[in-house]
Amino acid sequence: MKVVLPDSTELELPDGATGLDAARAIGPKLAEDAVLVRSNGHVQDLRLPLDDGRQIQILTTRDSDDPDALYVLRHSAAHLLAEAVRRLYPGTKIAIGPPIENGFYYDFEFPEPIGEDALEKIEEEIRKEIDEGRSWNREEVSAEEAKRLFEEQGENYKVELVDTADGPISLYTQGDFTDLCRGPHLQNAEPIKAIKLTGLAGAYWRGDEKNTQLTRIYGTAFFNQADLDTYLERLEEARRRDHRRLGQQLDLFHFSEHSPGSPLWHPKGMAIWTELEKIRQRENRKRGYLEVRTPLIYDADTFYTSGHFPKYEDLMFKLEVDEHPWAMKAMNCPGHMLLFGSRPRSYRELPLRFAEPAPLHRNELSGTLHGLLRVRIVTQDDAHIFCTEEQIQDEIAAVVDYARYLYSLFDLTASAELSTRPDNKIGTDEQWDMTEAALEEALKLNEIPYTIAPGEGAFYGPKIDLHMEDSLGRKWQMGTIQLDSQMPSRFGLTYVGPDNTEHPLYVIHRALYGSYERFIGILIEHYGGAFPFWLAPVQLRVIPVGEAHRAAANELAEKLGEYRVEVDERDETVGKRIRDSEVEKIPVVIVYGDKESDESLAVRERGGEQSTKSLDDLRDYLATL
Ligand SMILES: [Zn+2]
Ligand SMILES: [Zn+2]
Repeated sequence: MKVVLPDSTELELPDGATGLDAARAIGPKLAEDAVLVRSNGHVQDLRLPLDDGRQIQILTTRDSDDPDALYVLRHSAAHLLAEAVRRLYPGTKIAIGPPIENGFYYDFEFPEPIGEDALEKIEEEIRKEIDEGRSWNREEVSAEEAKRLFEEQGENYKVELVDTADGPISLYTQGDFTDLCRGPHLQNAEPIKAIKLTGLAGAYWRGDEKNTQLTRIYGTAFFNQADLDTYLERLEEARRRDHRRLGQQLDLFHFSEHSPGSPLWHPKGMAIWTELEKIRQRENRKRGYLEVRTPLIYDADTFYTSGHFPKYEDLMFKLEVDEHPWAMKAMNCPGHMLLFGSRPRSYRELPLRFAEPAPLHRNELSGTLHGLLRVRIVTQDDAHIFCTEEQIQDEIAAVVDYARYLYSLFDLTASAELSTRPDNKIGTDEQWDMTEAALEEALKLNEIPYTIAPGEGAFYGPKIDLHMEDSLGRKWQMGTIQLDSQMPSRFGLTYVGPDNTEHPLYVIHRALYGSYERFIGILIEHYGGAFPFWLAPVQLRVIPVGEAHRAAANELAEKLGEYRVEVDERDETVGKRIRDSEVEKIPVVIVYGDKESDESLAVRERGGEQSTKSLDDLRDYLATL
């Protein structure tokens, strides 16, 4: 058989040759350093036979920043972690341990709970394993054999995994530790030059809170120490910017055990929200949207008609009203469909753009909730555009333009992902051909860079997801634009054309911030809490030096009343109050003492800049921020 190498040369190999055999045929050094083989772009274990005619690439320890090489390295490190834990804590049961973005984790059921302080000891044990030398051996077994093995070891989670596994069962063994795993893995542990356990968390078995709570140990690994150091620095920066931490420090919001996943917004958090809402209303008005308001609860029939029941029933909070099943809305579309259908509509009314920033509720599993980024209350800057087939492209193009404008206000860079028909789609292939093509055409027309995510569309239509890159280079999914031919017809909606007959109607579902909750969470991290002047919850703070200056300080604050101004009258030293303003990242602070007047104000800016300005000059200056 033959495989094709990256330089297009062909390599003859005996039938059944593995990736490692191919590496050996090229050279012993390559074979020694090989980490994995990429076959037609797919990651494959070096120990597995190659397919005839495939394009292959052998990755080595020198591909230290290749995501696939790191994936295999970290996956292997996860197995070392499991072995170390079992050596140190006999009786511990192991669950799953996959590589994830930037690292790996492993879930354990410890006989006694462990604390963060245990991580160092476990890390030491892993290093010992690496020093002792570990290589991985792969074997395929029957499900019965695998079950017997794990039953003997009392590993009930593994037994359950064997029961639900499909395809061949493979085991990887290093030293005397055997794990159920699909691979791929390194040949041996030598390439793992840098490893760090980064944290502990609780995690339910299979993500379900009805199951046992396990202990998840997070870690990461690299091919060299320098890469680990760079990563840890970035992690520290991300920690400093964590919106949950900053949310507390800046007094923006908090969460309560009485309603997990639903933030309680403090006045300062609402100041940010209100600024965003002002932009939404202003731009919607400019761009021909009409504000509407529809109910928060509906009978189950509405959701059966929309198709959300039974598909998304589990995600919705259900109620009983007059002994009938109802639910809180998890999306605005059904209400907007009812609104559109309240009377016959003429083509002259189209496109008709309904906007509504209503709070939506989604019953996310408690284990998946994460600050403002994964919540149960989702306030979308939602809109539904009802249009004719001919209007689709212009409308999509206008929405993309709107999105681009919106994100530019926050210095966020956008890219698009076009998601196509999923397995659980409703509607015919012909309909999907048309709607997918319309979205792609709109992206091309607007010269928006995009990638395609096959099968990731909503069940009722294809969509464009807008991804943002923040100041740390992290990617976030924010806005979504979905084209839908299904829901209008499910609600029996049409429009009357110039020919006086009824025509099929299209709807574009779109949210651009995504949700206020998530968008504010991302903004907090993007700015590291140091909001630009126009968005800052407190824009100016006046600090009277002593009691005698309080009246003048308050007068000044009143004169600057078009801004969000505070006077810090606490009986603290001036130094302490200035420091607190820095911690709260307030853009402009004015210290008011004996020498200050409207002609001469001591202005301190975030970042350390100090100047003396008259009130008029200060006003002019603030207008430029
Ligand atoms: Zn594995
Ligand atoms: Zn919708």
